[in-house]
Amino acid sequence: MQNKRQIYADRIVVKIGTSTLIRQNSKINLNVIKKLAKVLSSLKKDGKDVVLVSSGAIGVGMGVLGIDRRPVKISKQQAVAAVGQAELMQIYNEAFHEYGMSVAQMLITRDIIDYPESHTNVMNSFQELLSMDNAIPIVNENDTVTVSELDHHTKFGDNDQLSAIVTNLVDADLLIMLSDIDGFYSANPLKVPDAHLVSHIDTISPAIIAAAGGHGTKYGTGGMTTKLKAAERILKHNQQMVLTNGKDPDIIFNILSGDPVGTLFSTARE
Ligand code: ADP
Repeated sequence: MQNKRQIYADRIVVKIGTSTLIRQNSKINLNVIKKLAKVLSSLKKDGKDVVLVSSGAIGVGMGVLGIDRRPVKISKQQAVAAVGQAELMQIYNEAFHEYGMSVAQMLITRDIIDYPESHTNVMNSFQELLSMDNAIPIVNENDTVTVSELDHHTKFGDNDQLSAIVTNLVDADLLIMLSDIDGFYSANPLKVPDAHLVSHIDTISPAIIAAAGGHGTKYGTGGMTTKLKAAERILKHNQQMVLTNGKDPDIIFNILSGDPVGTLFSTARE
């Protein structure tokens, strides 16, 4: 067992990816959501500030509407996302209510970076919500407003980067990125079976970027490339990020207690 990590985390942003939320058979993974609600509620009750950034609106919408393949047309993606977002929030709401928590839906757009007034408004909303004992903000991109973003052409482009922007914005100590893979590997393990897990990354070097292979599942979107872009933002702000497998959200407790799970992105030496 490697040494314990130094993790400082009073304010935490957790991002959960589509490939963790949606099973291969298109059904939503309720177990993961229930467990996540339990873990995040418990952290909140321990006095931590918690923000959840959740993907999955399109995947959930596809399941609700009985669509097999992710639509190509942007307007169709937006419509499917709108259906899925409502369903997803209902599921989160029920799951968090079990633990006496309410969820606050925050749908945001690039405006928060480009327009100081929007930036201030979002900051103020976050501050108010974070000061409440029993509310958890759940953030997603406002898909029906953000034209041509859904396939990552412009703007935030994806929830990986959105989660890093939110981490910067609320000045969180740690971003935990839950995916369908145990961390960052020396190559895409789907293609290179003997690739090894990298435990700590302090710089996003060209060699690291080259090791980020293609997309994982039919639902997952950005693959490792967008996660590395997010990590770059985090490192630039001297914050920490841990990328790990979200299949059992209890892993969040391991991360916070310093267990060397997943890949830690931080400028500090381990
Ligand atoms: P999410 O839905 O959680 O955002 P994605 O499917 O977009 O997840 O990205 C995770 C996938 O990225 C992994 O399942 C894996 O197939 C792929 N991948 C590509 N390169 C790497 C790498 N170097 N290390 C780990 N995973 C990689």
